Amino acid sequence: RARAERNRIAAEMKALFSGGARKGGKKGGKKSGTEATTTTTTAGAGASGSGSGSEEQLAELSREEKEAKRQELVERGRVLKEEIHAQEAELSTLETQLYDQAVMIPNITHPKSPIGPESEARLVRIQGVPRLNPGVKAFAQPRADSTAEALGGAGEEGRALLGTMSEYPLLDHVALSKHLDLVDFESATAVTGSRWYYLKNEAALLELALIQFATQRAVKAGFMPVITPDVVRPEVVQACGFQPRDEASQTYWVSTVAPGSTKAVSTEGSHHHQHSALCLVATAEIALAGMNLNKVIEESQLPIKMAGFGRAFRAEAGSRGAEVKGLYRVHQFSKVELFVVSKADPSESDRILEDIRAFQEDIFEELGLCYRVLDMPTEELGASAYKKYDIEAWMPGRNGWGEISSTSNCTDYQARRLNIRYRTNKPRQPHQDSATSATASNSVVSTEFVHTLNGTAMAIPRIIVALLETYQQPDGSVRLPECLWPFMAGVKEIHPK
Ligand code: AMP
Repeated sequence: RARAERNRIAAEMKALFSGGARKGGKKGGKKSGTEATTTTTTAGAGASGSGSGSEEQLAELSREEKEAKRQELVERGRVLKEEIHAQEAELSTLETQLYDQAVMIPNITHPKSPIGPESEARLVRIQGVPRLNPGVKAFAQPRADSTAEALGGAGEEGRALLGTMSEYPLLDHVALSKHLDLVDFESATAVTGSRWYYLKNEAALLELALIQFATQRAVKAGFMPVITPDVVRPEVVQACGFQPRDEASQTYWVSTVAPGSTKAVSTEGSHHHQHSALCLVATAEIALAGMNLNKVIEESQLPIKMAGFGRAFRAEAGSRGAEVKGLYRVHQFSKVELFVVSKADPSESDRILEDIRAFQEDIFEELGLCYRVLDMPTEELGASAYKKYDIEAWMPGRNGWGEISSTSNCTDYQARRLNIRYRTNKPRQPHQDSATSATASNSVVSTEFVHTLNGTAMAIPRIIVALLETYQQPDGSVRLPECLWPFMAGVKEIHPK
């Protein structure tokens, strides 16, 4: 409204002086007269009822009256300009607030997902028998009881059904890795800080072996191997359903500007973004999802299955004290991540979720881990997931379960934010939007948002925790599962040096 009013003032101003020129003969000429008529007509139409003078009235004014009128118009224009400025600033604040609220809206959840917090997780199945540790009190975990209940009884009775007691106390991975000289936490603390680590000797080989093992299994199952960038733009992180600017966020930020410096490090090809900070990814899922940013995919190419290797970085602010020790919860870890782009058909993406879960279970079964599968409840789905399974391995060192993997169907939540579509042939609908175009008489080519799914194929070093604690022998040596031997430079057992 203010902008329209300002245009009317401009038109009146023009009329005021063009008209005057004709009468006073200061600047004669047919051309300006014609212009004045045209403009005044427009202004007159728009300004009806606003008290502006008609062309004739304006033309009748004396030089002093015109000057007064001019000043009045200038003043009105100035006030309007300020008004517009203030309103534009308010609009931009409101738009930012609206956007910030809108991105907080999570995906809808699967009708069969359990409703509530983590304790409501539904036990789907247990593979193997937990090896109970006589040396350690049960690790305090709310879900242990629900497992016992699912196995046929609550309390001590249920717990007894949970596994078989080891004949000797089992060491945790921190003690084992000290005994076997596998991890250097002290140097990492000095070099970087707490929750950082150096893997050494067989542990370093083990990480590489696990990456190879998972990647080869994934390639055999039809996943395209990918090595992803570990640094991405914050918009991509946000589009995937994470809030990198949130105080509670896990995000590490990277800047090409040194703290306290005003000078940017010049990075080739990044001139436009020299001053904008980037994010270290918390999972390769973000880089893999982003790989399809703004793409339109042919339906015949779906599903696209990728297995990306990358490193994951997590600030882990406010994490529980019990997990500070060791490799369980660290700031940086290597991960082989599965990512699938599917048709926007819930029965198709639901089926793919089951396929990913079956693939993950195959890997953990081949590694000989004891694990359980949980159907995660609504409060544990994050913003993006529609349905999610977690897999937890039995970790004798903590005498409890520890999450090693998860898989989620994000339906079209990420696709909408990343603008990933596919071209599909659909029967003609009665009401078509303008994005569709007719081909044959009864079908149309239209684009739809894809569904995206992700899953952990291998998150190291948590798998190293599970392997060391599971395969320890009475003398503290560790015998590795056979599937890893081909990747271990001849090592089958780990002994003290
Ligand atoms: P998420 O993307 O949070 O589902 O994590 C995927 C997997 O990465 C989890 O199942 C864990 O195995 C592993 N993981 C997550 N956070 C950490 C961490 N801070 N340190 C080590 N491993 C982690």
